Amino acid sequence: MNRSVFVTGGNRGIGLAVARAFAADGDKVAVCHRSGNPPEGLFGVTADVTKPTEVERAVREAEAEHGSVEVLVANAGITQDTPLLRMSDQQFEDVLATNLTGAFNTVRTAVRSMLPGRRGRVILLSSALGFLGAPGQTNYAASKAGLMGLARSLAWELGDRGITVNAVAPGIISTDMTAALSERRMDDVMRMTPLGRPGTVDEVVAAIRFLASEDASYITGAVLPVSGGLGMGH
Ligand code: NDP
Repeated sequence: MNRSVFVTGGNRGIGLAVARAFAADGDKVAVCHRSGNPPEGLFGVTADVTKPTEVERAVREAEAEHGSVEVLVANAGITQDTPLLRMSDQQFEDVLATNLTGAFNTVRTAVRSMLPGRRGRVILLSSALGFLGAPGQTNYAASKAGLMGLARSLAWELGDRGITVNAVAPGIISTDMTAALSERRMDDVMRMTPLGRPGTVDEVVAAIRFLASEDASYITGAVLPVSGGLGMGH
């Protein structure tokens, strides 16, 4: 489809699967990664999303290679789980800085790139836990609920500019992030998941590809659960 696509956290997990899927569709994909090398066969730019100047440089490099950004997938995220009473300032701040402020940094820069073309798609990786909350995840759930507010507010701001802004809210998806979950926690979540199994990265990719497609032209400000029913009803 030849669109200029920018994916943060694109070197592994959901972000890598998203980057590969858009590239397979014929889009020009810039994988923004913090560590390591760019994935084989994909154009890489480096940035720590918590650092606005690094994000700005990365978007400029992507623009120079592929033209103005047309699709942004703000995917970079971390967890640092611990009960609130034991949570350090650092643990709270790091998760908010990466998941929420990092998305803000990326969206602000990428949207500037989209505006002149008067078209674009912004997709934020929120989480079913942004609806539900979870013990030990006050920092993470707060950051993911914040992304829903960010998406909905930005949908208002950009509605007349031809840019849609949506979030996906995955449940438990099998990646490095969830590999560390205890068996007990996994069983608890599966009991609350009507489909009774974790999702795959490809199931999240399918929702993101849809929101980025022409078929989703009248969808903005939506938070689309991809969660096997976990957290439904919100
Ligand atoms: P992974 O842990 O597999 O990958 C996280 C990615 O984010 C990595 O590429 C990592 O880069 C990058 N990243 C982390 N911090 C930064 C930073 N400061 N700057 C730039 N990049 C950074 O996670 P998943 O693929 O599972 O998750 C992707 C997104 O989906 C996250 O936002 C997550 O919260 C969300 N999500 C995941 C769910 C799941 O069950 N897996 C469920 C709901 C939401 P590096 O390799 O350098 O660490």
